[in-house]
Amino acid sequence: MHNVPEEWREERGPGGKEYEVKPRGGRGALFKGNTWISGNCRRDGGKVTEKEGGEPMDGAREVTDKESLMMELTHLVQNTVKESSWWQRRGIDISVLVLAFLLLPPAFLLLGSSRAVAFVLGLVLMGVAHAVITVKGTHLASHGSLSDSPAWAKVWAVFFIEVCGSFTAKAGVSGHVKLHHAHTNVIGLGDSSTWKIPSLPRSVYLFIAPLAVPVITPLVALGQLKEHSMGQSLRMVLMVFLGLYSQYWLLIHVSGFQSPYRTLLCMLFCRAMFSLPFIHVNIFQHIGLPMFSPNQRPKRIYQMTHGVLNLPRNPLLDWTFGHSLISCHVEHHLFPFLSDNMCLKVKPIVSQFLKEKELPYQEDTYRSRLLLFFHKYQELMVFAPPITELVGVQ
Ligand SMILES: [Zn+2]
Repeated sequence: MHNVPEEWREERGPGGKEYEVKPRGGRGALFKGNTWISGNCRRDGGKVTEKEGGEPMDGAREVTDKESLMMELTHLVQNTVKESSWWQRRGIDISVLVLAFLLLPPAFLLLGSSRAVAFVLGLVLMGVAHAVITVKGTHLASHGSLSDSPAWAKVWAVFFIEVCGSFTAKAGVSGHVKLHHAHTNVIGLGDSSTWKIPSLPRSVYLFIAPLAVPVITPLVALGQLKEHSMGQSLRMVLMVFLGLYSQYWLLIHVSGFQSPYRTLLCMLFCRAMFSLPFIHVNIFQHIGLPMFSPNQRPKRIYQMTHGVLNLPRNPLLDWTFGHSLISCHVEHHLFPFLSDNMCLKVKPIVSQFLKEKELPYQEDTYRSRLLLFFHKYQELMVFAPPITELVGVQ
């Protein structure tokens, strides 16, 4: 990481002109008419007000803004990355993925046991391994974070997203990296609306529908084949079939399952074990935060600090989904090329920097977000989100 990737640079408007935030009277004055809630700010009759004790920006602060806070933070993070070993940059996360694959042989053997405790342990091991491989693995692979080599990064993307995740690598990468990350919380582009199913009642959406994710995922992938070339479509169908059939075959021949229905039920149960938190964290960390208009998008550092939220560290979810999807989501959106472990390592630097610059560092608990989505389901998941307008955008 000797050069700053293009994606780390400030967003530019038409004609290459940078959109600028011109603060007037403190950070709260940057926004009007939005509906965001953060640890530092509070909702106040449709307006966002400065945190208690907050001070208006002075002239020096405006100069700092113009010098690009993002570049300043990038240099701090780059220095940390440069002094980190390969083990810290990639090794730890690769080891977690290897461990997940090593859980599979005992899981298949335990699933063949006639003892209930051993069978349940087999289910849990299989479910945990599947979550690590298909959430942490596919996410890191979609960002190319598993290898320095572009060719190998592509191989890992196909393996994790198609074979393990039953989805298309092309659609997965373009949907997540090129749309969600590049246009975080921009209406019509990266506004997380793909997660919304307004026709479903809140209890069904939050607690029942996620269980169908293992069935829906390959069906959605099939629906996207028309956007792929013949070669890509053929590869995707073969890879998805390989992933599903290999688990089915191993359950029959290693675990000793006799009935096809029981085998498929076991596959569904293991694959759906972490579907609820998977859907939850995907909506908790963006929906309900400021949304931006495509024509008036803020600079990257404002976009990410206002449009992304971290959940607290949670050993189970941090290690199965990866730190970048749980406790380091802000860091991940600011620096999407960092591995999970590096996001964790730069977290104190990023949080301290943002707090020093009086930018939001949004954090909330899983329980608090779940209650918010349950009680404001109509507002957050059914109706169109309000757009946060930046004051002073030229
Ligand atoms: Zn990502």
